[in-house]
Amino acid sequence: MITKKKTKIIATIGPSSEQEKILEKLIFLGVDGARLNFSHGSHQEHGRIIETIRKIEKKLDRHIAVIADIQGPKIRIGNLPENGIELKDGQEITIDTGTREFYENRIPLPSLLFRDGTREGHTVFFDDGTIQVRITSRRAGIFKAIVLKGGILLSKKGVNAPSLEISSSILSAKDKADIEFSVKAGADYIAISFLKNAKDLLETKKFLGKSKIKIIAKIERPEAILNINEIIDEADMIMIARGDLGIETPLWELPIRQKEIIESVRKKVKPVIVATQMLDSMIRNPIPTRAEVSDVANAVFDSTDTVMLSGETASGKYPTETVDMMRKILEATDDHQETIHEKLKLSNMAPELCIANSTAHIVEKSGAKAIIIGAEDDILAKTISHFRPRAMIIAATKDPKIARSLSLVWGVTPIVVKGKDLIESAKKKLINSGIIKKGDKIISAYSADKILKEVI
Ligand code: PGA
Ligand code: MN
Repeated sequence: MITKKKTKIIATIGPSSEQEKILEKLIFLGVDGARLNFSHGSHQEHGRIIETIRKIEKKLDRHIAVIADIQGPKIRIGNLPENGIELKDGQEITIDTGTREFYENRIPLPSLLFRDGTREGHTVFFDDGTIQVRITSRRAGIFKAIVLKGGILLSKKGVNAPSLEISSSILSAKDKADIEFSVKAGADYIAISFLKNAKDLLETKKFLGKSKIKIIAKIERPEAILNINEIIDEADMIMIARGDLGIETPLWELPIRQKEIIESVRKKVKPVIVATQMLDSMIRNPIPTRAEVSDVANAVFDSTDTVMLSGETASGKYPTETVDMMRKILEATDDHQETIHEKLKLSNMAPELCIANSTAHIVEKSGAKAIIIGAEDDILAKTISHFRPRAMIIAATKDPKIARSLSLVWGVTPIVVKGKDLIESAKKKLINSGIIKKGDKIISAYSADKILKEVI
């Protein structure tokens, strides 16, 4: 099954979406990647979801990227009563860093980092900054604080204390166990949270050893913005993690950071994800706000490859309505973005990029309906996508792993084919499924490597 949409959707899977029926509907409606948040849930639960996704993939003939989102040095609240606790403006609260459980009205915040780094006078943020408190005293891991901005605090919500210097290793023992599990369970990407520099990614790669799993770098700290170029060099994909980034850097500068990061990633011809609160009000309501609709469209205009849903699909009331709405916005917007290849200077490009650029031009000028790439790797599909041609980009491969990883790249429709000639097999499959008809103009391209060898 092939959708018209070119910008890709990642949905975070959680209690609202993990049932097979709902997952199938979400994928049918346009989800290309499923994010499993390893801050929540057991390996058994994540494993079951991955198996279910693989089953649905076969049924719908789609290729879904599974993203294991690794917690990293993110600090979270411990366990609270089921409906959370209400924090009122001006109220004094007690935070206990020595326990995971709520008792005697003490808020559990089990973190040595928090205990050692937080001081009197610091402002601390809960739940993506919606709740703010100021520390008034500390003694033996127990803190008193005054609530500046109240709200309902739920279990496991994130904690930001911008004055904290996170100095620990990027991967905790839990993270390492989660990565090992994800590789074994056949995830396609791991997402690394709260990294600061390329060293953090090199440490992750060293731990990964021979595994070919792809790495998404989540940009959510100011240091990561300062080191953005070296991070892009070491990552397969970048996520603009606006939830934490909007607390760790000034919130009103977030739209500019989004544009700058996308531009830096595109300069290095890698794909990028815009994440968090895209259709946030659909957690509670069946339709989004006008501002949210514009936010999704603006991410496309900024040239993102992928947009991401978090609470909307993980724990919201309207997961399927949200994906349906997001797909409609993308379909309406996709072809109204600038075609970018006019802007880039051929003289500055590596040979592989010149080939992709010329191919995108040929596709555009010829009015071809699709370009079919016989992809032994993902390079040519990714580089052609970079130039945003209007035609469909079909990547035909024998390897389901390549197909799944390409699912997150703008405009690329991966298909898995058998047979010696990937392009001929792909044509047959596309004609059989009615995507192309006899007489349609099609451009074929083998890998850039092959073209280079033949040309030079
Ligand atoms: P999270 O990452 O949902 O794991 O916190 C995304 C973000 O911070 O925006
Ligand atoms: Mn985050």
